[in-house]
Amino acid sequence: MSRSSVSRYAADPSAALPAGRMLVADILRRPDGRVLSCSAAPMVAGALGAAGHQVVTGTVHLLEEGLDSDLRAAVAHATASARRAGDVLGAEGSGGVAVVVAEAGLRPVAEAAVGSWAQVMGPRTVLLASPRSFCAGVERAIDVVEALLEQQHGLGGRQVFVRKQIVHNTHVIADLTERGAVFVEELDEVPPGALVVFSAHGVSPQVRAEAARRSLQVVDATCPLVTKVHAEARRYAERGNSIVLIGHAGHEEVEGTYGEAPDATVVVGSAWDMAGLDLPDPSKITYLTQTTLAVDETRETIAALKKRFPQARGPGSEDICYATTNRQHALQAVTAQADLVLVLGSENSSNSVRLVELARKAGTPAHLIEDCSRIRPDWLRDVATVGLIAGASAPPALVQDTLSALAGLGPLTVREQITTTEDTYFAPPSAGRKNR
Ligand code: SF4
Repeated sequence: MSRSSVSRYAADPSAALPAGRMLVADILRRPDGRVLSCSAAPMVAGALGAAGHQVVTGTVHLLEEGLDSDLRAAVAHATASARRAGDVLGAEGSGGVAVVVAEAGLRPVAEAAVGSWAQVMGPRTVLLASPRSFCAGVERAIDVVEALLEQQHGLGGRQVFVRKQIVHNTHVIADLTERGAVFVEELDEVPPGALVVFSAHGVSPQVRAEAARRSLQVVDATCPLVTKVHAEARRYAERGNSIVLIGHAGHEEVEGTYGEAPDATVVVGSAWDMAGLDLPDPSKITYLTQTTLAVDETRETIAALKKRFPQARGPGSEDICYATTNRQHALQAVTAQADLVLVLGSENSSNSVRLVELARKAGTPAHLIEDCSRIRPDWLRDVATVGLIAGASAPPALVQDTLSALAGLGPLTVREQITTTEDTYFAPPSAGRKNR
C-alpha cells in the first residue's frame, strides 16, 4: 500500500478555535475557492476524542496552494494562537485529513494524528457482506415506536414509553429518544395507565402480568420469531418435558423465554455446562435456543447435550433465526478474503458480537464498531482488503458512513458479496401501524 508524505501549508487565521479544542476538517477550502471534502474526518475526530481531546469538525480555509492535483491531501494545521496563521502539516497523497489546533502545546498531538492516518492512506478494497443490517424483526419494532410517536403527537403529546432498548443499537435508541420515546428499564418507571412498548427481544409472562396490574396500555413489538420460541417453551413444558434453553444467561430474550416455564427450564451457555446438568427424566428433554447464537457453536452445544442425554430433542424448526444465520454466512464469505473485518453494531447486540467472534475464529482480525468514528489507524496498517458487515440491529446508514470515511483515505473499490437475498416482512401489530 502506498504511503503519503507530510508537508506544510498555511491556513486562514480568522477561524478562532477555543483553547484546548482541536478542529478536524471535514472540508478544506483552497485559496481559489475549490473545496476538498475530507470524508475521513469522523475517524480522525473519533480517534482524537477517544484519546481524551476536545474535538470539533468543520471547514478549514487554506491560504496557499500546495495540495496535489486531484484535490486530496492530509493536512494538520497548528497555530500558536487562534488569531495567528501558523504552519499546516500536509500529507500529500490520495486522501484528505486535516487537524487544526489553537495551542502550540497540542501541535505534537495534531502532527502525530496526521502522521498515523497518512501512513494508512492508499487504495483499498471493501468486501461488503450481504445480507447485512436491519432484519425484519428490528424493522418492525422500530416502525412500531415511530408509528406510536406519530400517533401520540396527533393526540396531544401522550408519552410513548419503551421497556428496555427497543433493539440493541445505540444509534437507534438515540434517534428515537430525540424524537420523544422514553426508554425505561422496568415497568415501575412507567406511570399507571400509560402507553408502553415491549421490545423486539420479548418479555416474560411475569412482565405482562405486571403491565396488566398497572393498567398499562401495551403494544407488543416482540419479534414473531422470538414469540415462536416462547410458544415452544410453553408447549413442551405443558407436555411435562424439561427444557434446556441454550443461550446467554441475563440476555433479555433468554429471560423472557425462561419466564414462560421457569420451573421446567434450565439455561445453558455452552457445551461445557452439560456435565453439571441434572434433569429428572432423560426421555423427556427438549432443547430450545436463543435466536441470535452462532450456528456452528450451537451445533456443538446440542451435540454435547445429546451425548449426555441421547433422547433430547429439538423443536420442529430451527430457533436461530434466518437473519442471524444469513449474516453469519455473509460474513464467512468475506472473511476468508479480508485482511480485516469490521462489524457495525453495539456491544450488547448478540448477533453482532457473534459475527466478530466468527471472524476471529477464522483467523481474521475483527472489530465491533458502533460507527466509523471507532476505527483506529493502526487497524488499517497493511490492510488492503476490509470485510464490512452490519449486525441485524445496526442502521444501514452506518454502512454508507463507513464506506465514505474509508474513501477519505484513498481510492476505494467496493465489491458487494451477496450470499442470499432476504424478503422477510413482519406486519406490525395494529396499534403500531403507520399511516401510509
Ligand atoms: Fe427477529 Fe432474528 Fe431479527 Fe432477532 S435477529 S429481531 S429474532 S429476525
